Amino acid sequence: MERKIRFAPSPTGYLHEGHLLSALYVWAAAKKWDLSIHLRIEDHDRGRARPEYIESIYDDLEWFGFRWDSQSIQSERTSIYETALKTLEKQGLVYPCYCSRKQLEEENPKSETGEIVYQGKCKALGMTADAPHNLRVIVPDKVITWHDMRLGDFSENPKLQCGDFPIRDREGQWTYQFAVCVDDIDEGITHIVRGEDIRSSTARQIALMRLLGRDTPPLYLHHPLIVDPAGKKLSKRERAHSIRQDRDAGISPEILLGRVCHKAGLQSADTPLNLEKAISIVVHSL
Ligand SMILES: [Zn+2]
Repeated sequence: MERKIRFAPSPTGYLHEGHLLSALYVWAAAKKWDLSIHLRIEDHDRGRARPEYIESIYDDLEWFGFRWDSQSIQSERTSIYETALKTLEKQGLVYPCYCSRKQLEEENPKSETGEIVYQGKCKALGMTADAPHNLRVIVPDKVITWHDMRLGDFSENPKLQCGDFPIRDREGQWTYQFAVCVDDIDEGITHIVRGEDIRSSTARQIALMRLLGRDTPPLYLHHPLIVDPAGKKLSKRERAHSIRQDRDAGISPEILLGRVCHKAGLQSADTPLNLEKAISIVVHSL
């Protein structure tokens, strides 16, 4: 079987330093483990995705010299998500939820991480004509054990982390959690390397992939994020500062690659790096 990793940015803005670091980790993992690279544009959020952002993802990646073997875009894959939805429906695992955001906040407990743990209020209601609703998948009340190649072993129960979670929102858009699982199965992704900020989604994604028929989950590695000197995550302002702005200001790819590796603690000095060197520094950190 082909071994494949994906880089999956959302075109809801221009790429920033956080994306660049993530790309370096993905390309480094591909080099280290001999994986083909799939570029997936995650434009499931049709309200926020913009054509100019999609174009800029391709363009910025090429500007740095990143190359990939295949690519896909979620908005062209509607029928694949419809089929996956039917797979869940046939098992009786999908129900509409009519709760407003306010109701969700008031009527459900929160997990340790502050996430709403949906208690299944609408599970017994069935379909009511025309009332706005999202679709939720019933997650099994079961501990998922999984291994992160950097962080070690985890045992988590999605029922206690988030409860039954939305797979399609009120506007009829597929959610991130659903689209990403369907794509990882359909595109044959064997390795997932992504930021630590998404780590808590892993158990629920493994649970959903199992319901969709994939028993063996991908291998996971969640990489550290860029932090400021105080150890805090990249601020909104820093994230808003795009690669595009630096390019327009005449800054070279080598300066940006060196800077990102420096900010991520991968090299001690803020000195320029070419792409090959930057990737090999990350390879050695894996
Ligand atoms: Zn509900």
